[in-house]
Amino acid sequence: MAPRYVFVTGGVASSLGKGIAAAGLGTLLRARGLSVALMKLDPYINIDPGTMSPFQHGEVFVTDDGAETDLDLGHYERFTEQPTSSMSNITTGQIYDSVIRKERRGAYLGATVQVIPHITDEIKARIFKLGRETKCDILIVEVGGTVGDIESQPFLEAIRQIPHDVGKENCLFLHLTLLPYLAAAGELKTKPTQHSVRMLREIGIQPEGIICRTDVLMSPDQRRKIALFCDVDQRAVFESSNVDVIYEVPLMLHRQALDNWVVTKLGLVTHDAEVNEWRRLVDRIKGAKETFRVGVVGKYIELQDAYKSIYEALSHGAAHHGVKLEIERIDSEVTNPASLAAPLSGVDGILIPGGFGSRGIEGKVFAANFARENGIPFFGICLGMQVALVAFARDVCGLPEANSKEFNEVATDPVIDLMESQKAVLDLGGTMRLGSYPCALKPGTKVAAAYGQSNIDERHRHRYEVNNKYRETFEKNGMVIAGVFEESDLVEIIEFPDHPWYVGCQFHPEFTSRPLNPHPLFRGFIGAVAETARAKKTATGETAVSNN
Ligand code: GLN
Repeated sequence: MAPRYVFVTGGVASSLGKGIAAAGLGTLLRARGLSVALMKLDPYINIDPGTMSPFQHGEVFVTDDGAETDLDLGHYERFTEQPTSSMSNITTGQIYDSVIRKERRGAYLGATVQVIPHITDEIKARIFKLGRETKCDILIVEVGGTVGDIESQPFLEAIRQIPHDVGKENCLFLHLTLLPYLAAAGELKTKPTQHSVRMLREIGIQPEGIICRTDVLMSPDQRRKIALFCDVDQRAVFESSNVDVIYEVPLMLHRQALDNWVVTKLGLVTHDAEVNEWRRLVDRIKGAKETFRVGVVGKYIELQDAYKSIYEALSHGAAHHGVKLEIERIDSEVTNPASLAAPLSGVDGILIPGGFGSRGIEGKVFAANFARENGIPFFGICLGMQVALVAFARDVCGLPEANSKEFNEVATDPVIDLMESQKAVLDLGGTMRLGSYPCALKPGTKVAAAYGQSNIDERHRHRYEVNNKYRETFEKNGMVIAGVFEESDLVEIIEFPDHPWYVGCQFHPEFTSRPLNPHPLFRGFIGAVAETARAKKTATGETAVSNN
């Protein structure tokens, strides 16, 4: 069966949670027994977000097949448990790149190459390809940006044409807008939504459903008004209000029967959505009482989206153990790294995420040493593992000049070095060691116990690696290599056995953690955080008693 298409556009403002709404709908459709794929159309000219600063873009999400993509794909995977791929995120840059290459090859046979039909055909071809290859029942296509943006026009034109290609009855247009609340007037305003729908109509798209992002609940009157002015059914005006936990979004949409409306519109017959496991998850998260503090030490701590998947994966680990986490965001860019001792003393666990460049590095090295010396559960991811080794080499292995070549090209002891395969690489975009690679675990390690298996696959995004020349020195001083990529003999995971939990990995486990299926290393880390903190409390409690 050819797939049905749900197109999700956005109006009035960005950052309304369009990706989460699309992913939440994906959850519900899957819960009705349908197979679902999601894709994101990004109107910017970069080929992918790989070269963008986290200030511009937030996290770069990596797929199994090694694409550097928009962070919304992280939501898609977490909500639908379906892996995405390089086909799931297309950008203006990719579309133009491919059209121009075809033109150079003479593929357009003398035609003048134009936005319509050549660019729009290229966009549609990629949408259809994903539908075909995933063999999904429903393909949800999210258009990035906001209706009215100059750069999203070709994407909107392309999706406008699709009902003509695949049949109107197989397509559904959903528009997500903001209903701003004016405190002075004490009401929600529907006018911006009316305008944004009008703009969509000018392009030739009549949305059939509208999801309104609101801080306060809509009145029946407002719902009627939106239906009337935007020419949609009253039952097709949905509400996306604030939730405490993002995993409540599917439940919130289900309460309004969004999924039922979508399948009915698309002429599909399914059973009702089975959402009990999501209910249980949300109850577990909300019901957690015991709170622990985890310090995330990075240089983009003020950005909500820079470590998106890390924060989500931590929350999955916490949900698994039925505990609550307070995330202490610790800025590693300080003039005096030792000044971090104060904030680090107040946390029950320390996580150092991935990163690039030397800014803030010495703060991270200090944090890695602090965790090791004070028995604080530690999780170093990619750059976080690399700095953990620099710290260990300097402080324990008698190599005071140890460093990564990324930060000092002439380091006397380059314990982290550029991978051989990277030495001739000049382009920055798409050239790292990217995507999923196998890793063999060492039996008897904490990590192997956490995974419960001996061979794993994990996603990568880096250029540097542990320098094998120092492996022996590290091992002699108490570090264990718990995982390797055997084919190229690369260190993938390290741990310290005589520490409650000191684990570093070269890959990014946060990308494959799911709320209903937390990643073993995040489960293990949070488990150790809780256990160590409880033991500390008991010990200090006992001391207090014995002092009496
Ligand atoms: N900058 C380091 C490298 O390229 C780490 C990368 C990362 O943390 N993703 O190896």
